[in-house]
This record gives sequence, C-alpha cells and structure tokens, in this order.
Amino acid sequence: GTQADFIVNNYNLYQLSTGELLRSEIKNKTNLGKEISSIINTGSLVSDAIVKKLVEIFISDKKFKNRLIFDGYPRNLAQAKTLEEMLKKYDQKIDLVLKLTVSLETIKKRIMDRKSQEKRADDNEDTAIKRFKTYEITTEPLIEYYKKMNLLKEIDGERTIDQINKEISDIIDLI
Ligand code: AMP
Repeated sequence: GTQADFIVNNYNLYQLSTGELLRSEIKNKTNLGKEISSIINTGSLVSDAIVKKLVEIFISDKKFKNRLIFDGYPRNLAQAKTLEEMLKKYDQKIDLVLKLTVSLETIKKRIMDRKSQEKRADDNEDTAIKRFKTYEITTEPLIEYYKKMNLLKEIDGERTIDQINKEISDIIDLI
C-alpha cells in the first residue's frame, strides 16, 4: 500500500486496493460490508466472486485503461486467471508484477506501528499471523505463476521506504 501510493503519485497511475474497497463497504455498513467483516477480521480471503465484481468496475472503465496498480490483488490462482480474462476482455495487459519480501517479524512490527495510526480491525497479532499463513498457502503460488510469465520482479522489502521507492522507480522506468 505504501509503495503503491508512491507509484501513483509519481506516474500517471491509479491505485486499486481491494482491501481498501472492502473496508469502505464495511465502513459504509452496506449489505456486502456486513457479509465480509468477520471474514476480514479473521484473516481469511473474501470470495473470488465478490472481489471480481469490485475489480471489474475499474478494469471496464476507460479512464483507467492500462493505468491500474493492483494492490493486494490477485490473492490466489483463480483470481489471477480471472484477472487475465478480464484484462483480455477490455484489451489490456499486465506489464509488471512486484513482490516485496518481508519477514513475519518485520510484518508484525509494521502492523503494530500502523495500528496506532489507521486503527484497522484486522491489525492485531493473531489476525496478522493468520493473514501471513493465508498468504503462504494461497497467495505464494502466484510467485511461480508470474515468474513463468516473465513478469515478476522481487524486491527486498526489509529496507527503508525510500530505498524501495528508488528500486521500484528504476524498474518502472525500464518498461
Ligand atoms: P489488505 O488491505 O490487502 O491487507 O487486505 C485486508 C483483507 O481484505 C485481507 O486479509 C482479506 O480478508 C481481504 N482482501 C483484500 N484483498 C483481497 C482479495 N484480492 N481477495 C480476497 N480477499 C481480499
């Protein structure tokens, strides 16, 4: 999220954070929000169908054509395949996939720092550990998937925000 924010501000791009979209449903107390709040608070994934609906609103909008940064999406292989189908349908493609690698210890520390600022209901140690497990089991296979497609760049996420900014800019500038 931090780095997506930076990329958006430096390039003419739009950030699509599925987590943010889902949290705003909860905040606005919509029917969807009521359905998903307990799922998010236990660190599991919301259904692929719900996420697809939210994402397609942006992919189908000409204003965002080929200018989206997906933050926290796709989270599993089914979502990656759905994303490809949607991009094809609206004549778009993925240019780059970034993996920021961070240890569980660092994640816990950063989440505790964020907790005091953003007050996210899922920013507690138990849910953070569950989210990390969900990542390892469900999301990690995407790394091989995008590696095979020659789209993946791995970045050491343990470094400072500025150092990571710089590396990401250099990678984007080469596209
Ligand atoms: P994030 O803001 O990306 O950390 O996401 C917070 C929570 O929202 C996750 O732990 C999931 O419960 C849910 N979520 C966000 N993005 C997705 C997605 N692409 N698919 C399923 N659930 C998601």
